[in-house]
Amino acid sequence: MLKNLFLAFVIAVFNFLPLLAQDISSPDITTAEIKKHIYYLASDELKGRYTGSEECLTAAHYIENQFKSYGLKTAFDDSYLQEFPFVAGVKLTKNNSLEFLSGNKKITPKINDDYTTVSFSGKTNINNKLVFAGYGISAPDIDYDDYAGLDVKGKVVLVLRDHPEMNIPHSKFDKYAPLRKKSVVARDKGAAAIIFVNRFDPNNDNDELLTLKYDQAGAMDDFGVLNMKREVAEKLFKTQSINLMNYQKVIDDSLKPAAFIFKNVNVNLSTEVQEIEKISWNVCGYLEGNDPELKNQYLIIGAHFDHLGMGDQNSLYTGTEPQIHNGADDNASGTTGVLELAQKIASEKDKLKRTVVFVTFSGEEEGLLGSAYFVDHMPFPAENADVMINMDMIGRLRDKSLIVYGTGTSSDWKEILKKDNTDSLELSFNDEGYGPSDQSSFYAKKIPVLFFFTGTHEDYHKPSDDADKINFEGEKEVLDYVYYVFNSIDDTKEKPDYLLVERKEPEKMPSRKVWVGTVPDFAGNVDGYKISGVSEGGPAETAGLQGGDIIIKFGDKKISNIYDFTYALADYVPGDVVEVVVKRGDEEKTFQVKLGTR
Ligand SMILES: [Zn+2]
Repeated sequence: MLKNLFLAFVIAVFNFLPLLAQDISSPDITTAEIKKHIYYLASDELKGRYTGSEECLTAAHYIENQFKSYGLKTAFDDSYLQEFPFVAGVKLTKNNSLEFLSGNKKITPKINDDYTTVSFSGKTNINNKLVFAGYGISAPDIDYDDYAGLDVKGKVVLVLRDHPEMNIPHSKFDKYAPLRKKSVVARDKGAAAIIFVNRFDPNNDNDELLTLKYDQAGAMDDFGVLNMKREVAEKLFKTQSINLMNYQKVIDDSLKPAAFIFKNVNVNLSTEVQEIEKISWNVCGYLEGNDPELKNQYLIIGAHFDHLGMGDQNSLYTGTEPQIHNGADDNASGTTGVLELAQKIASEKDKLKRTVVFVTFSGEEEGLLGSAYFVDHMPFPAENADVMINMDMIGRLRDKSLIVYGTGTSSDWKEILKKDNTDSLELSFNDEGYGPSDQSSFYAKKIPVLFFFTGTHEDYHKPSDDADKINFEGEKEVLDYVYYVFNSIDDTKEKPDYLLVERKEPEKMPSRKVWVGTVPDFAGNVDGYKISGVSEGGPAETAGLQGGDIIIKFGDKKISNIYDFTYALADYVPGDVVEVVVKRGDEEKTFQVKLGTR
């Protein structure tokens, strides 16, 4: 018994060893390869593949090596890599200074210690009078105007941050308080610069300066924005024989503005914030078609390979310790899709009619940066592209439910998609060509698109989006399906037509400045913006919204889809309180959401 068992063991080991050593490489789409690619791309070694990082380049080289081994041709002369520039952040140049002259007395605050220039400040050089403009709020509709009767033309206004009713939740002043809002008001009144000072708060005596953080929105042209410590402001008030704390208290208690022009005080200041430009990479290779006519037409298969690194402003992680955002589903899964399809299609390249372009992008998470650059610098003319197939988050197939965007962008798509669904996937179609991933960049160039997606989940944009949560079998099913769809498109004789699906989205990616903390649910066709969840501690959760809610009204705007929602958001700034109506089951509920920022 024992001997036999031992023998069985020996045989088992001998049978197994060659398997271990064996290369798993196969021209077919296999779960073993899917697993291998995802485990590598989503490994801690690649630190979340942050756009422009060393690890992003390592991932690009990995993809490049795979492309090379499949025999793809290089898309850019002798290279698979395409470099593109992007704004990675902001920094202050040497041209930032601040000085107050009161009679023959100088007050010179130190940069970073006593004051700082704010990230969205424009470039300025100003020598003019100083004006105290209370809270910097001009709101005649609530009968409060710090600028009433005040001439601030060309001058520098000093204002308190927040508003006089900070102890009241949902104050009517809330929406006038954000820094950007107050800066725009000051500029529109003719001021040359604004200096923010923290107000006295009996509950919070923190007087720290703002950190310099790029908010992915443009800077203000020729208008200076600064943040100064209260200590310095108190010295300035002293030159007018005024006690700042008492003065603020009078405004807060009476809700009566009390602005004034400083007597005998001149400000000398300059501001300059510089955008930090960095380089990141797309990876692209192709296989030439065989049909003498159709080989001049292109089928593009793509996915983004970047993710959030250690977490950035798009992270939904609420912990304090930075963590690697491995991004296994988002989007090691789609990148792997490109690799597996490239390998499979390359093994049958003699069958190809059209030329196939395989491309992976970075910069997607920062606003479709890589694909936007790619479509403007394509190695072939955009009008020759017949389809762009995008895969973003295809690793979490549940109940065989697969979402396909772009189904209305060519009249051929629906028939092909239904015919090729031999594995009975539960398909939900969304006609729109614009959506939350790289296919948008191609659709904007009038290229029909298809976007495959297995849906959002609670690990979305969190460090917990890990490889062990991927449904590898499910991803193989998705890729087999995409492969059939790809072949059917290549088999069409005519160029697939391009259809315009009416666009409800603003021209540019919406600013990410305002944060609501809702996780979109892209599945199904609902009238409204359906959310699959809310970010922990975010504005939506705080207000009482929950997963499954369908937002149908945002402020005075009716919401029919996610674009209406992002569009409506553009009218607000962080700190605004908005009335939000949702459908929850058969009920309609109204919530007050105080918008945040990340
Ligand atoms: Zn993402």
